[in-house]
Amino acid sequence: MSADRALAPLDPQEVPSEPPPRATVKAPSVVILNTGDGKGKSTAAFGTAMRAVARGWAVCVIQFVKSGRWKVGEEQSARRLGVEWWALGDGFTWDSTDMDRTEAVAREAWKVAREKLSSGEYGLVVLDEITYPINWGWIPVSEVVEAILTRPPALNVIATGRSAPAELIEVADTVTEMHNQKHAFDRGVRAIRGIDF
Ligand code: ATP
Ligand code: MG
Repeated sequence: MSADRALAPLDPQEVPSEPPPRATVKAPSVVILNTGDGKGKSTAAFGTAMRAVARGWAVCVIQFVKSGRWKVGEEQSARRLGVEWWALGDGFTWDSTDMDRTEAVAREAWKVAREKLSSGEYGLVVLDEITYPINWGWIPVSEVVEAILTRPPALNVIATGRSAPAELIEVADTVTEMHNQKHAFDRGVRAIRGIDF
């Protein structure tokens, strides 16, 4: 970016009319939700996990769609950092030949997640791609909301996935909708090791 560009005035529509309120509340923990159809939901969650590790927190990631067979890059790096990692999905459903099995796998994953959420052992639990089994009716959203509301006070939670249900948006403190402007995939570029997994 050139110096001129850096000094260019802000778009008046983007200039806030009032200074931001002073932050006065120190929350013991927050719930973050990364949703939308653009790239970056899971990677943002894993980036936060890196910050959490630096502060000495115990971190647990539960993946509801990816299966342990895939050995994705983020899992390998996170394990090296001491993150507990559970890839408990059954792959993508459209690859599944046995939907009952896939559903049962999702329910089992939720059982594990629930225990992790209530255990009091962690500073951060990531529920990666949890919106999908919720939206397919396999995990009751009421149970997820209940587990979040009754979690240990110092436990931060990050949930990811497209089309987050309203109940999850409601219970979250910070909700970011990644919006897809374009994606290399749209022009036929295959998923890239080191970038997409
Ligand atoms: P990432 O893991 O890269 O942060 P994500 O969690 O936002 O992506 P998912 O919906 O979980 O997105 O998609 C999983 C895979 O699909 C990733 O490999 C990601 O790069 C890719 N992907 C994400 N968004 C899009 C999109 N809009 N079009 C095509 N592929 C996408
Ligand atoms: Mg994702």
